Amino acid sequence: MEENINIKKDNISVTDKEFEKQLRPLSFSDFKGQKQVMENLAVFVTAAKQRGESLDHVLLHGPPGLGKTTLATIIANELQVNLRVTSGPVLDKPGDLAGLLTNLQKGDVLFIDEIHRLSPVVEEYLYSAMEDFQIDIMIDKGPSARSVQLTLNNFTLIGATTRSGLLTSPLRARFGIKFHLEYYDHEVLTGIVKRSAGILNVKIDEEAAIEIARRSRGTPRIANALLRRVRDFAQVKGSGEIDLEITKYGLKALNIDQHGLDEMDNRILSVIIDKFAGGPVGLTTISTAVGEESGTIEEVYEPFLIKEGYLKRTPRGREATEHAYKHLGKQFGNNQPGKLF
Ligand code: ADP
Repeated sequence: MEENINIKKDNISVTDKEFEKQLRPLSFSDFKGQKQVMENLAVFVTAAKQRGESLDHVLLHGPPGLGKTTLATIIANELQVNLRVTSGPVLDKPGDLAGLLTNLQKGDVLFIDEIHRLSPVVEEYLYSAMEDFQIDIMIDKGPSARSVQLTLNNFTLIGATTRSGLLTSPLRARFGIKFHLEYYDHEVLTGIVKRSAGILNVKIDEEAAIEIARRSRGTPRIANALLRRVRDFAQVKGSGEIDLEITKYGLKALNIDQHGLDEMDNRILSVIIDKFAGGPVGLTTISTAVGEESGTIEEVYEPFLIKEGYLKRTPRGREATEHAYKHLGKQFGNNQPGKLF
């Protein structure tokens, strides 16, 4: 079973997906940031091309929106092969995977998003395909049913995951190349915002691009989404061009605060501080209190809050840091458990 490139991500809408496609870089030179990953990748792709072999299987790991799907597209483009896109939860049965695998031509790239969500039977089926480029398929039904071994064309599997900890070790071991994508710094994101504005054909000044970049939680998908929203404000409430003033106005209307934390980020921190005395508090409790799935909190919100020093993960649960108290204008220590005040 195959999906096209529009895989469900963070509940983004159909039009957002269309825009993502439009803004997606297609070559190594368009892809900004992740310097070391890109340098190594360029070497591995060139070497595979020179030898006329398929590229080793690649595992991409990192929070949503950092460019895993984009990289898979670029790798296939650079290798000049076809790209097939699917995702872990879509592949229900081994038969779904067999259909995809047998249709791959020599050197093609198969991209499996959310590979940590493959069912165990499908995952096991993948092992021999990845290692020996062979699969067993059942033909016929009933008493005459038998299994036949099929040899596949050599292909490259690119797996993407937001939760590499959930991958089984046999699966992880079958990837020859593993990359972790990092959050982007403001300069790189500013470049991405300017490039996207160019594609969307909207004028943006440097200060506005920097402001959007600064408030995008280090994530290109968010930078692009904020740019589009600010463009709407510029069109309706401003001159059509994006300057700092309309950017600040738009971001305020979107509840994105000075440090790029959105409503949910701030809600998570407030709940930990106000309801649980700053923590430690368990993930499921936070999830119930803020009304968001624990998986989403763990994959989407928490990594950024930890990276920016608002949150700590301890063996007893999550704790708000002094930085989080300051951010919310609260006195650190006042409601810490066991402290006299
Ligand atoms: P992921 O698969 O990691 O969730 P995507 O590859 O779908 O993320 O990226 C989301 C959007 O962000 C894409 O539409 C793309 O336009 C943009 N993007 C991601 N990484 C980069 C980058 N390094 N340079 C420019 N744009 C990027």
